[in-house]
This record gives sequence, structure tokens and C-alpha cells, in this order.
Amino acid sequence: MLLVFGFSVTYRTVGEGTFHCPRCGGDRTYRRRAARRWVTAFFVPVVPLRAIGECAECRTCKGRFATSALRTPTARLMAAALPAGMRAAAALVLAAGDPGDPAARERAIQVVRGYGDTAYDGAALDGDLVLRAGFLAEEVTRAGDALTVEAREWFLAQTVRIALASGPLDEARRRAVHRVAQWLGMSRAHALGVILTTEGAAH
Ligand SMILES: [Zn+2]
Repeated sequence: MLLVFGFSVTYRTVGEGTFHCPRCGGDRTYRRRAARRWVTAFFVPVVPLRAIGECAECRTCKGRFATSALRTPTARLMAAALPAGMRAAAALVLAAGDPGDPAARERAIQVVRGYGDTAYDGAALDGDLVLRAGFLAEEVTRAGDALTVEAREWFLAQTVRIALASGPLDEARRRAVHRVAQWLGMSRAHALGVILTTEGAAH
């Protein structure tokens, strides 16, 4: 009798979730799959060999990707990170000046709503004002991670406009917008350029 030997790879599902599929370009469900090589006889796996590793398989396009693809934030997460980051930036600059200033509060509410949190209002702002700086830093940093260089500049410019709504920047509010820039991952020189340009345009 002639035995036909060969090799094959089998996949076993070890987890699932939602990720940003690099091929579909959107949020998709995935299966995390562990691969193992087998010796086959008559095309039937009979002897397990070494485990090859794990991959993420998109349930929509069936594409398989290295598990590092799971680190890319989903569009839903990014969409939530931006308004949360802007809320944190607004709270920081308002707290550095007069948090009750009506013009600055109104500007903050407009900007945060423009970033997608359409229910944001004065009460939400007051809630954010009592948050600790460490938490605000995390929120701004997470937003910065999701933004391109140009979008970070825009984010910072909007923060400066909130601060400018209550008048020219004093030392405390200038420090606050520089902190926001630092949390966004911008260099001091880069931040200075954006801040000066925004101040110039406001005159
Ligand atoms: Zn896909």
C-alpha cells in the first residue's frame, strides 16, 4: 500500500474581539487563531508538530494578520478618544484661568461639541474641572496618539482659542496650553509656533 505523507497547517480559535482590519480598513470582528503544523497521511493530519504562532483573522475578509494588528486602535475607540481628550484640554486651560468666565466656557462647549461630544454642556464641564491632572494628561495623550501631526496642531490651536476667549494669555494659561502640547507629543518649538500663530490670528 502506498502511503501519501505531507504537511498541513491547522488553526484553532483561542479568542475573539473587535479590531481595525488593515485590509477592510474598518472596525471588524476577528478570531485570534493559533496555528500548528501537522504531518498528514492521505491529507488527514495525524502527527502534531510545533506550534507556529498566533494570528488575527478578520471575520469579514478572512485576511490573516500578525497579532500586532490588534494594537491599532479601532475607529470607535479613536472617535471616543478625541472628544475625551478635548474635554481634558479644555478643563485644564479653564482651571488655569477663571473657570467661571462665560466667554471661555462657551468657547470650550462649542469646541468639545465640534469634536463629537454633542451632549457636552456646562454641567459636564464643571464635572471635568475637579478631575486630577494625571487623569487629564492620560486623556490628552490618548487623543494625541490617535492624531496626525496636522490634527495635533489643530487640536492645540483649538485649546489656545478656548484660553484666548477670556483675554490675552497670562502666564498660568500659557503654561497650561504648553502642557497640553507636551501631552499631545509635540516639541516645545513646534507648540510655540502653533500658539503664536493662533494668538496672532486672534488679534
Ligand atoms: Zn478584513
